[in-house]
Amino acid sequence: MPPAENIEICLRYGTLQFGIPNSRYKGEKMIQTEEMEFAPRVIVPENIPEDGDIEVTLRPQTLHDYIGQEKVKEKIAIYIEAAKRRGEPLDHVLLYGPPGLGKTTLSAIIAHELGVNLRVTTGPAIEKPGDLVSLLTSLNDNDVLFIDEIHRLSRAVEEILYPALEDRVIDIIIGKGPSARSIRMDLKPFTLIGATTRAGQLSAPLRDRFGVIERLELYSKDNLTDIVRRSAMILGIPCETDGAAEIAGRARGTPRIANRLLKRVRDFADVMGNGQITQEIASIALSRLEIDALGLDSLDRRMLDMIIKGYGGGPVGLETLASAIGEESVTLEDVCEPFLMQLGFLGRTPRGRCATKLAYEHLGYAPPEQAAPPDTGQLSFNA
Ligand code: ADP
Repeated sequence: MPPAENIEICLRYGTLQFGIPNSRYKGEKMIQTEEMEFAPRVIVPENIPEDGDIEVTLRPQTLHDYIGQEKVKEKIAIYIEAAKRRGEPLDHVLLYGPPGLGKTTLSAIIAHELGVNLRVTTGPAIEKPGDLVSLLTSLNDNDVLFIDEIHRLSRAVEEILYPALEDRVIDIIIGKGPSARSIRMDLKPFTLIGATTRAGQLSAPLRDRFGVIERLELYSKDNLTDIVRRSAMILGIPCETDGAAEIAGRARGTPRIANRLLKRVRDFADVMGNGQITQEIASIALSRLEIDALGLDSLDRRMLDMIIKGYGGGPVGLETLASAIGEESVTLEDVCEPFLMQLGFLGRTPRGRCATKLAYEHLGYAPPEQAAPPDTGQLSFNA
């Protein structure tokens, strides 16, 4: 698909027409699902085709409606107010954190609150420096350019971005060979918002050019309950607070998963009850979807089960583990591990992954004397 088709989303504040083409995920997920010959898992935090238009409908449009992430919100609100008072663009912003936590949503809100246009694209969609040049030159005063997966920009494209961010200029080479000459072009003031799930992969010069760097955290159960209730209200689904809390507790701290589970539970409520989502219906539905009380699904359990029963609790290398359970190692690394480590179920050591005492207990096994302690995060860099 030519890059221009991926980029064409431009909105005036106040309109609801917002969404990112699924292209970034389609490639990866589709290959995987074709190979595995079953539907994507319910708890993947990335956008999947079945999310469809629901994401667009449910996106909050103001900071007030954006639930949770209080510290980030507080700071962003001040930066927005200051930029508005000075009539200047907001400083460039980098948002990082796992997928599905609201980075794209927050960017749209920032543009909305600033009262400017938002242009949305993704790192892999900007294939050539020329693609970025045409994007940058089409921005109006103080507009926001949102680049998702910014860590996937090519080196050549990044080079164009540096002077654009720092001095609001771009250098364009015209012609070839000895007759080639460089022309410097001024840009209108703008704000770049970069989002990434892998802050560590961002080059240092790029990272240094962001004035505001914020990490989005996994959501608390209370915040997710509010998100589920808000989504249920927008979608016209009768949902009791206990039902919302049941869904929230199994959504891996991620609003995208919470919204997806709500949609699935609604089907059960329609068929098994009178359409009302109660705690009981939510619990039955989620158990049928094989999502347990803590939000682990069958793959998480298979992974832990293999470490415990197949490798005596670990350590076992990621690749070995992935082939033992017939899954892609990236899926284990990106989807299962962050959550299992957060629960304190998985340890990562230089020699491989280990199941902790808590994991043994959760799966109903007697923990050995020497079960690994929960990961301190310290060794993760070496793993
Ligand atoms: P990311 O860009 O981090 O992958 P998104 O911004 O696309 O995540 O968010 C995924 C979905 O989760 C959105 O459709 C939105 O409805 C919902 N969502 C995310 N954050 C919030 C929030 N703080 N409050 C309410 N809904 C949220």
